[in-house]
Amino acid sequence: MLPYAGAHFLEACSLCSKPLGHNTDIYMYRGNNPFCSQECRQEQIEIDEAKERRWKVAKKSNNKTNVRTGTVAVA
Ligand SMILES: [Zn+2]
Repeated sequence: MLPYAGAHFLEACSLCSKPLGHNTDIYMYRGNNPFCSQECRQEQIEIDEAKERRWKVAKKSNNKTNVRTGTVAVA
C-alpha cells in the first residue's frame, strides 16, 4: 500500500475529484478507487480497459521481436 493512499481514501472521486461526503453514494472500483457516480466509475473502467489493450498489443510486438532475435541468434 502506498503511503498516501489512505489520505485520499474515500475523500474524493478518483475521476473528477468531486468530494465524497458521508451522505453521498460512493461507487467502488477495484477495491480502493471511490467514484461519485456510476458514470465516473464506468469512465475509469473504460480508461483501464483501453490501457490494458495497449499493454497487450505492446507485449505482443515485444514477443515478436524476441522470437525474431532468437531465430537470428540460432541461425
Ligand atoms: Zn466523479
